[in-house]
Amino acid sequence: MPFVKNGDKVVPGDPLCVIEELAPGPGTYEDDGLVRASIPGTVKIDMLNYLVEVRGPNAEKKLLQPKEIVYGEVVAMRNELAQLRVARNMEEVLSARAYSAVLHISQVGKPVNSLYDAVRPGDLVKVKVLAGPPYQLTLKGPRLGVILAYCGNCGHPLYKIENQLQCPYCGRVEERLVSPDYVLKAKRPKKRDQKHEDKKVRH
Ligand SMILES: [Zn+2]
Repeated sequence: MPFVKNGDKVVPGDPLCVIEELAPGPGTYEDDGLVRASIPGTVKIDMLNYLVEVRGPNAEKKLLQPKEIVYGEVVAMRNELAQLRVARNMEEVLSARAYSAVLHISQVGKPVNSLYDAVRPGDLVKVKVLAGPPYQLTLKGPRLGVILAYCGNCGHPLYKIENQLQCPYCGRVEERLVSPDYVLKAKRPKKRDQKHEDKKVRH
C-alpha cells in the first residue's frame, strides 16, 4: 500500500510509496526504492497507469474542455480569423491566466462577408470551445456572441437597441453578432429628461 492517498498534501521529500507499487510521475522522484515528492502539493494517484504524481497549486488551472462556454476578448483579427484571449470568467480574461484561442469566419453561425460583421477588436464575447489546445472557438450556439462592444468612432460602450448596437454619444450604429446576454441593453436614448426612463414607465 502507498504511504499516501489521493488528495493528501505533501512537501518535498515526503515518501509516497515504494517503487514497485507506483511509478514516479510529475512532481516526484525516485530515491533508493522509494518515490518521494519533489514539490509541495497534492497527491494524485493514477491507478490505471500505476502512477503517482504531486500537483502543485498551478496544476489547479484546468485546461478548457470542448463544448465549454467561455468568455473572451478579441485582441487581433483579419477578415477571416480572429485571435482572442479566453477564460472561464471575465476576470480571468483580463488576467495573465487567460488562454489564447482563434475564431474562424466559418464558425460565426450565419453568413457574413467578413468576420468584422460579427466581432471587432476589443469586443468582449461569449463563445464556445470547439477544440484544442490550441483552442478553436465557435459562435454557433444559443446565447453566444458579443456581450460588450465599443464605438469605432468615439470609443464609448455601445448599447443594444432592438437588434442593433448604437453609440449613445455619437449615434453611430455598428454591426455585430450580438448575444442576448449583451450587458448594455438600453431603451432608445431620449433627448428629454432621462429620469422618466428610470421609473420604467411603459405605454
Ligand atoms: Zn460613438
